[in-house]
Amino acid sequence: MTSPDPAAAAAAPSDAATPARHDFIRQIVREDLASGKHDAIRTRFPPEPNGYLHIGHAKAICLDFGIAEEFGGRCNLRFDDTNPAKEDPAFVRAIQEDVRWLGFDWAELRHASDYFEVYYLAAEKLVAQGDAFVCDLTPEQVREYRGSLTEPGRNSPFRDRSVEENLDLFRRMRAGEFADGTRTLRAKIDMASGNINLRDPALYRIKHMPHPIAGEGWCIYPMYDFAHALGDAIEGITHSLCTLEFEDHRPLYDWCVERVDLAGHPALLAPLVEKGLPNVAARPRQIEFSRLNINYTVMSKRKLTQLVAEGLVDGWDDPRMYTLQGLRRRGYTPSALRLFVDRVGISKQNSVIDFSVLEGALREDLDAHAPRRMAVVEPLKLVLANLPEGHEETLSFANHPKDESLGMREVPFSREVWIEREDFAEVPPKGWKRLVPGGEVRLRGAGIARVDEVVKDDEGNVVELRGWLDPESRPGMEGANRKVKGTIHWVSAQHAVQAEIRLYDRLFSAADPDDESEGRSYRDHLNPDSRRSVRGWVEPAAAAAAPEQSFQFERLGYFVADRVDHRNDAPVFNRSVSLRDTWAAKA
Ligand code: ATP
Ligand code: MG
Repeated sequence: MTSPDPAAAAAAPSDAATPARHDFIRQIVREDLASGKHDAIRTRFPPEPNGYLHIGHAKAICLDFGIAEEFGGRCNLRFDDTNPAKEDPAFVRAIQEDVRWLGFDWAELRHASDYFEVYYLAAEKLVAQGDAFVCDLTPEQVREYRGSLTEPGRNSPFRDRSVEENLDLFRRMRAGEFADGTRTLRAKIDMASGNINLRDPALYRIKHMPHPIAGEGWCIYPMYDFAHALGDAIEGITHSLCTLEFEDHRPLYDWCVERVDLAGHPALLAPLVEKGLPNVAARPRQIEFSRLNINYTVMSKRKLTQLVAEGLVDGWDDPRMYTLQGLRRRGYTPSALRLFVDRVGISKQNSVIDFSVLEGALREDLDAHAPRRMAVVEPLKLVLANLPEGHEETLSFANHPKDESLGMREVPFSREVWIEREDFAEVPPKGWKRLVPGGEVRLRGAGIARVDEVVKDDEGNVVELRGWLDPESRPGMEGANRKVKGTIHWVSAQHAVQAEIRLYDRLFSAADPDDESEGRSYRDHLNPDSRRSVRGWVEPAAAAAAPEQSFQFERLGYFVADRVDHRNDAPVFNRSVSLRDTWAAKA
């Protein structure tokens, strides 16, 4: 293949705002474009629709779609739906939503099941070439014959069947003549190979179960390695990117691509032409990179599924979950996740990323973009007794201290305000800078207040503070600049809207929740304080938020209006992340 202008194609990514990324995969892509090996890049993201996507998948998505985007190529979304037993249309919908939410779109939406007919013809071709055989060993026998890492396997007694017998049996497998598990179609490669994946791996197994898309027509289903390699070849994928655990499968991947040779046998693609599915058969190259691992999380679909099934979390989109649906509900933004993935980078080195890197990316994104609001999570009333009864006024606040383009908002103020209970101490600890009896503090943007009287109930609990607002310290006045020790936030009691505020924290309190030593499981590492719900008060401009709108609640952290439950007259906010890393100190 020749490239019209390899230099141009290999130039910097299309998004001029982002600096060019220089990981080893992008380096390969640049070289392949510059040398003219490919004139366009094609990638794919191939999820199995057996669960929701998690943060690990975000890394693969940003890589697969990101490379296509940066180098003017195309990326397909391909559902690997070769196992009809595990699929659910809800997963299929959510996966598409998640990819779009992250900011990507696919060139084409495909399913491995689109190719069932091609896979079948390809398998018949392998049989005809003497490269595959029908094996009658039971699954236990197959295991026994396979050998181990230190011992070679043994040939199946069915390995030398004639091509005619194999073809006949394989066709009868497809016709439904045999029960599940009684026969497989196996590649004929090498039972003595040091790579166990090459010891005559299964290509097809019998499963009498209709397929959610392909319907009743099939009772044999292709195995992952075979289907995946051919799917890539069918779609003309140039760089098939996957995680390191597939490194040992690469020789099998290459074997499938080469022995079937779709590019050299376009007739095999005839069933796709009938379906109107364009294709550009090619010889794809598999490249592996290391998985994303983050401490304090579990990331396998199996464990995430168990958390939901056992009711340990409130569903797939629980804001504590590491699914993309959960992170989204928690208040993670697509740009924060993309920033995180960029920071983590792409390599072949397995590592565990510190959770603070994920939270740091979110803080950084929200600090720059989230408007500021005031909210009080544990309210205590402060009455400014020197203001006239019924006094109210409107103050003007900047939405963002560093970004004027976010504009101003009106914040109502009145004689009675809610302040944070923990901003008052009768007996202050050393170094205290907030309210004490007789002491002064600045009410953010409203003036300087003093506490004169502490009102208590019969049990001695503080239920109200009564005090004074310095009339010479109002916004704009000379006296507003008078030095006082601390500044606290507040909301007008008369105007604030009561809100449910969900104070989320990390789901696991152990750095390695997957640690199963001493008979433990990740269930034993759940953080009992990962969710606390309180009733607080928010200023009207926070209550008016649309679902999924993020704010910094001053001095409290970053919060998002819950995607599902938030209403303007009954606001619900989730804490996305605290203002500072409180875990670093604990560790
Ligand atoms: P899990 O192991 O969590 O069940 P999976 O690998 O079975 O995930 P798939 O749906 O097969 O999930 O994955 C789709 C793509 O996402 C694959 O290319 C896979 O390599 C990639 N992927 C999955 N987990 C991670 C991860 N932690 N980091 C990077 N890529 C991942
Ligand atoms: Mg998988």
